Amino acid sequence: MSDFPHSLIAFQRRFPDEAACAAYLAALRWPDGFRCPGCGHDQAWMLDTKAWTYQCKQCRRQTSVTAGTIMHGSKLSLIIWLWAAYLMATHSNGISAFQLWKQLGLGSYKTAWLLCAKLRHAMVDPDRKALFGLVEIDETTIHHRTKDGPICGGQGRSHDGKLLLAGAVEVVGPGPGRIRLAAIKDFSATSLHGFIATNIAPATTAKTDGWSAYPGAPGVNHDPRVIGAMAAHLVLPWIHRVFSNLKTWALGVYHGLRRKHLQSYLDEFTFRFNRRRTRHAAFRSLLRIASRRQPVTYKMLIAAEATG
Ligand SMILES: [Zn+2]
Repeated sequence: MSDFPHSLIAFQRRFPDEAACAAYLAALRWPDGFRCPGCGHDQAWMLDTKAWTYQCKQCRRQTSVTAGTIMHGSKLSLIIWLWAAYLMATHSNGISAFQLWKQLGLGSYKTAWLLCAKLRHAMVDPDRKALFGLVEIDETTIHHRTKDGPICGGQGRSHDGKLLLAGAVEVVGPGPGRIRLAAIKDFSATSLHGFIATNIAPATTAKTDGWSAYPGAPGVNHDPRVIGAMAAHLVLPWIHRVFSNLKTWALGVYHGLRRKHLQSYLDEFTFRFNRRRTRHAAFRSLLRIASRRQPVTYKMLIAAEATG
C-alpha cells in the first residue's frame, strides 16, 4: 500500500472521520483481507453495534480493528492516534509529549505521554534486518536529566551520572545508511559484543577505534583503527556525526534524556534517522508496526526500564 498523506491538508482530507481511520488501520493490519486471530478464518461480518469490530463467520469471535494492537483498549479516538503518529513520524525532529498534549488538545499530560510512549514502542520493527556490509561502531556517553532537575553528568572521563550507549552505522558509498543505538551498562567486551551480536549481521566488516573491548567480537571481521581521541571523528566520521546529532536532538526536543527511558528515545531517534528520506511513508510504517505489535500498558512501559 503506497497510500499515505504528504501534507497536513492531505492528511485532513484523507482522514476526515473515524471510519476512514479504521479502514486504513484494517488495511495495514490485514493486507490480504481480514483473518480471524482465533481460528484463522477469512470471512467476517462488520458489526453494527460495536465500532470497527468484525465477527468471525466460523468461530463468532469478535475482533475490533485495534484489539491486540498497540491501540488496544485506548479511550482515544482513532483520529487522535493517527494525528499523533503523523506528527511523530513526519516532523524532522519528532514531537515531545508536552507539545503533542497542546497541539492535539488532549485531556492531560499523562495521556499525551502514554500515547507517545506507545507509539515509540512501535518504532522498532520486530522484522528489521541487522546492519551489514561496512559498519562503523563506537561508544559514547550522554548527559541525562533527572525527574525535575536540570541536565547533569560527571565531568571529564568519569561515567558517573552519564548514560552509556553503543552505536553503529552502515557506510553505503559516500554516506551513512541505517543506524542502531543501544543503552549499555558499561564499555566492557561483554556489553559491546552483546551489542554487535544483536545488531550486526555475520561477516560484516566492523570499523572501530581500536578500543580493547572490540577484538574477538563474534562473527564480524574486525578492522581496528588505533587513534588518538582528537582524530576519532576523522576515522569514524559517520558514527560521530550520528552521536552529535543525537545529543543535539536530545537537548532540543527533550531538554535531555531520562535514564529510565533511554532505550525508547534511542529507538525513536533510530526510527526517524533510518527513514529520513521517506518521512511521509514513515507514518504508514509506524501504524503498520503499531497494528501488529502486542498491546503495552502504562505499567509495562514504566516497569520495563525501571532499572535502566
Ligand atoms: Zn474465527
